[in-house]
Amino acid sequence: MDFEFTKEQKDLKKEVIKFAKNELCDGEHGVFSRELWQKCVDFGLIGMNVPEEYGGMGLDYQTSAILLQALGYACEDSGFVFAITNHLWVCQNLVNELGNKVLKDKYLRGMTEGEYIGCFAITEVESGSDVFQMQTKATKDNDGYVLNGSKMFISNAPIADAFVVIAKTENEQGKETLTAFFVEKNFPGVSIGKKISKMGLEACPMAELCLNNCRVPKENIVYQEHKGMKVANYALQMERVFEFASHIGAMERQMEKCIKYANERKQFAKPIKEYQSVSNKIVDMKVKIELAQLLLYKIAWKADHKKNIFLDSSIFKLFVSESYVATCLDTIQIHGAYGYSKEYGLESELRDSIASTIYSGTSETQRNIIFSLIDII
Ligand SMILES: Cc1cc2nc3c(=O)[nH]c(=O)nc-3n(C[C@H](O)[C@H](O)[C@H](O)COP(=O)(O)OP(=O)(O)OC[C@H]3O[C@@H](n4cnc5c(N)ncnc54)[C@H](O)[C@@H]3O)c2cc1C
Repeated sequence: MDFEFTKEQKDLKKEVIKFAKNELCDGEHGVFSRELWQKCVDFGLIGMNVPEEYGGMGLDYQTSAILLQALGYACEDSGFVFAITNHLWVCQNLVNELGNKVLKDKYLRGMTEGEYIGCFAITEVESGSDVFQMQTKATKDNDGYVLNGSKMFISNAPIADAFVVIAKTENEQGKETLTAFFVEKNFPGVSIGKKISKMGLEACPMAELCLNNCRVPKENIVYQEHKGMKVANYALQMERVFEFASHIGAMERQMEKCIKYANERKQFAKPIKEYQSVSNKIVDMKVKIELAQLLLYKIAWKADHKKNIFLDSSIFKLFVSESYVATCLDTIQIHGAYGYSKEYGLESELRDSIASTIYSGTSETQRNIIFSLIDII
C-alpha cells in the first residue's frame, strides 16, 4: 500500500479545489442548482470512476477518494456535495459496478452527462434500521415486475430522474427475498411526495417516493433477481466510504477556520490560540482528520484491489460521522458567540453534520455491525 500521491492525483486535487472554490460558490447556499450540477458534469466530477467509454474519467477508487475529500473541503455547501455523492455512490456506481450491459448501455452515459440524477430508495415509514420489515412489493408480471409501496426520506427525490428501489420479491420456493430495480421517474405509477423539510443539507432535497402499480421491465433489475440484499449492502458500504470522504474535507475546512480565528481573536491581550484549552481543540481536529484519512486511503486501496471492505466501511463511517459532529461543535465553541450566530455559517455545518450519524445506517447500527464482525477479523 503506497500513501504517496501521484503527480496526476496531486494535480487533479488542486484542480477540484480551484473549480469548487471558483464555480460552486455562485449559487444560493442551501438551494439545489441544476446549473451547478451541469458545471460538475462538464468538469468530469459526475462520473469520476465511470469508464471512459460511458463518458466518465475512469479513475480508480483511491483517486476518487482524494477528489471527494477535496470537493468536501472546497465546496462550502455540504448539502450540494451530499446531492452529488448520493447520486454517485448509491445509484450511478451500482449501475457501473453491478449493472448488466443492457442497463449500462441504457443509463450510464446519461447519468454521467447530466441527463439523469439518481437516488436510492430503501427506507420506509415503518422500516428504517430494520430493512427486512419493508412493505414495498414487486410482483412478477410476464417479462417484468409490478411495484407497489412507498419509500420515505429519499435524498434527491424531488430533483431525481431515476431511483434504485429495493423491494420485496418471492423466489421460486416461495421464500421472501429482496430485488433491486432501476426505476425512471417517467414510468407510469411513479409519484413524488411533497418535499420533507429538515434541519440541514437543504441543497439535497428529500421526499417520499410512491409506487402505484409501477411496471418495471426485467432488464431494469440491478444485478440479479432476489439479490437485492447484496445490492443494498454494496450500495451502503460504498456510501459509507466515499460519501464520508467528503466529510473529512469539511472537517479540514472547519479546522482552517479555527486556526485563522484563534490567531486573530484576542482576549486578555493575547490571541486565543495561546490558551491550551483552545489549541487542544484544534489538535483534536487534526488527529481526527489524520486518522480518518489513513482509514480512507486504506479502504480505497482495498476497494481497488477487490478486497472485502464491509467491516472497514462501518468502522470508517462511525468514526468520521462522530468526528465530524465533534469538530463542528468545537468550531462553534472556538468562535464563541460569532460561531453561534447565523452570519458565520458555522451553525449550518453543525446541522448538516448531525445527519451523518443517521443516514447510511445510524451510529448504533454501525456499532452492531462492527460487534457482529469482530470475531472473524
Ligand atoms: C439526511 C438523511 C438522508 C437520508 N437519505 C436516505 C435515502 O436517500 N434513501 C433511503 O432509503 N433512506 C434515507 N435516509 C433514511 C435513513 O437511512 C434512516 O433514517 C436510517 O436507516 C435509520 O432509520 P430510522 O430513521 O427509521 O430510525 P430507526 O431505525 O427507527 O431507529 C431509531 C433509533 O433507534 C436506534 N435503533 C434501531 N434499531 C436498533 C438496534 N437494533 N440496536 C440499537 N439501536 C437501534 C437507531 O440507531 C436510532 O437511534 C436518510 C436519512 C437522513 C437523516
